[in-house]
Amino acid sequence: MKILKLPKPQLDFFASVLQQFGEVHAPVERNGKFVFQRLARWSDARLDYNRTILPPKKYFLPPRERLFDYREGAGYVPATDELDKRTVLFGVHACDIYALNILDTVFGGPYPDPYFQARRKNVAIIGIDCTPDEHCFCRSMRADFVESGFDLFFHDIGDYFLTFVESARGDDMVLATESLFEEVTRADYVEYKRRSSRKRESFRLDVEIRDLPEIFEIEYHADIWDDLGDKCLSCGNCSMVCPTCYCFDVIDSAGLGTPEGERIRHWDSCLFATHALVAGGENFRGSRSSRIKFRFYHKQRGFVAEYGRPSCVGCGRCIEVCPVGIDIIEVINRLRGVEHARVE
Ligand code: SF4
Ligand code: SF4
Repeated sequence: MKILKLPKPQLDFFASVLQQFGEVHAPVERNGKFVFQRLARWSDARLDYNRTILPPKKYFLPPRERLFDYREGAGYVPATDELDKRTVLFGVHACDIYALNILDTVFGGPYPDPYFQARRKNVAIIGIDCTPDEHCFCRSMRADFVESGFDLFFHDIGDYFLTFVESARGDDMVLATESLFEEVTRADYVEYKRRSSRKRESFRLDVEIRDLPEIFEIEYHADIWDDLGDKCLSCGNCSMVCPTCYCFDVIDSAGLGTPEGERIRHWDSCLFATHALVAGGENFRGSRSSRIKFRFYHKQRGFVAEYGRPSCVGCGRCIEVCPVGIDIIEVINRLRGVEHARVE
């Protein structure tokens, strides 16, 4: 990996050059929260954000998308119009990049999803480091640092951004603005390491994930699942904002009496009452306790068995948005029989 540094005053010019690599999107403030969106002007970008309401997942697996049209005579016509659109996502945090790498394993593998993969190819990612707030526990989930899945990654080292160049496209971005970047000195590396270590020490939440699948196995019949079922509203907020939740439903939309229609997929949630409802009226997870239990078991146990790590990156979004205060850290610690590990 090539490592360079960019003087902070040059960031504006660097960002203006990025437009040749696609439409530039970044976090902007909206009513005190942050959202990724297309920038009207670079000065709207808020690189000091804590977390966006929806993760960058929305660019790769849109909340609602048309998969194909079907028409008599033409057969199936794939919806490819937006797939080759080039976009640059500027300012993605390590945990959200890590989450995209997790989604790569789901939407790659034996049944690759061409829609997700086309977008992954055409959306450039520029990462930026961040400061953990009271809901972040990405360090516990080993997602506070990423080695892949991005083009460039900026680390603040004072007057400069230490810049990790990870891909050929990232290299092209640097070459297009080569005069802006400088060679890194030993003192820069020392400052990078000092700040990394300070960041590691600044996490206020900590959770132990070693042997967590075994703890879940042991606690399958624990009372906590009924308690959570009594509390949970099945609103689905937690899965909608989660960067690694990927449940979707597929519907056909066809007009009555017309030989044509379209197939659409849209986000779904395993917390919704109808998620496991099948023909004939059987619902395999009819109770709220069974649904919230499933969400935890899938993320912290089933995913580990299948992919070797939990499908949680510790972004803290589900803690922030749950209207009844269900907190993943409290749940895990209660299962472990320990107090809420908040480091003050
Ligand atoms: S489960 Fe919660 S903390 Fe973990 S990745 Fe999803 S939203 Fe973030
Ligand atoms: S956000 Fe909270 S209340 Fe809503 S479905 Fe998730 S756990 Fe239940």
